[in-house]
Amino acid sequence: MRVLEARVERRVSSSLTSRTINILKEDAVSLVLVVDKGGMPKDWCNFEVAACYYAKDKVIWELGEKVKTMFGGHNYRGEQSRIDISCIIGVSGPLLGDKFYNQQTKFADRMTLYSRDQHMCAYCGNEFSSSQLTIDHVLPKSRGGSNQWTNCVTACRPCNHRKGWKTPEEAKMHLLYVPYAPTVHERILLKNRKVLADQMEYLKASIPKHSRVWRN
Ligand SMILES: [Zn+2]
Repeated sequence: MRVLEARVERRVSSSLTSRTINILKEDAVSLVLVVDKGGMPKDWCNFEVAACYYAKDKVIWELGEKVKTMFGGHNYRGEQSRIDISCIIGVSGPLLGDKFYNQQTKFADRMTLYSRDQHMCAYCGNEFSSSQLTIDHVLPKSRGGSNQWTNCVTACRPCNHRKGWKTPEEAKMHLLYVPYAPTVHERILLKNRKVLADQMEYLKASIPKHSRVWRN
């Protein structure tokens, strides 16, 4: 197990090597849902990071189907170590790279914001791909507008440009929807749209039926 742990740690820490990037691409289709020991979903992680939790004996319970088997080194008897990774893992102690969960009011990444707004421009109402979208601060940053969920909306480039440093009222551009701060469970669901059935079941139990995330 020590050999595997060292290998996994090396791979996780050298995050910019082409090998790691290839691994991340290959595994981009599904992720592991990381839950704390109290059952609160915390974040998604790739199989490499999940293997690290296993190798460090941080996984205290598992749920759902096994989604990946990772192989490590051989011991003196020639047996190869292996880790079968479940799609939901309960972990103890601090999380690896625990940034997402701690950002209660600020959004962690633009893709989650676009996902919250269903890729729809808040001003013209048209749908765009992520590359055509921008984040608009309802009260502009230059006038003290914060980076919080409730002050940020998805906007297409032309609308964002037209609005500039004005408020929606000043620009005579009315918001088509009210920006809201998703709960932790909602954010976790919004962050990964390729959610496996077992993971969806787990998250569904914690998100009310009237939540806007179900409109996606
Ligand atoms: Zn627009």
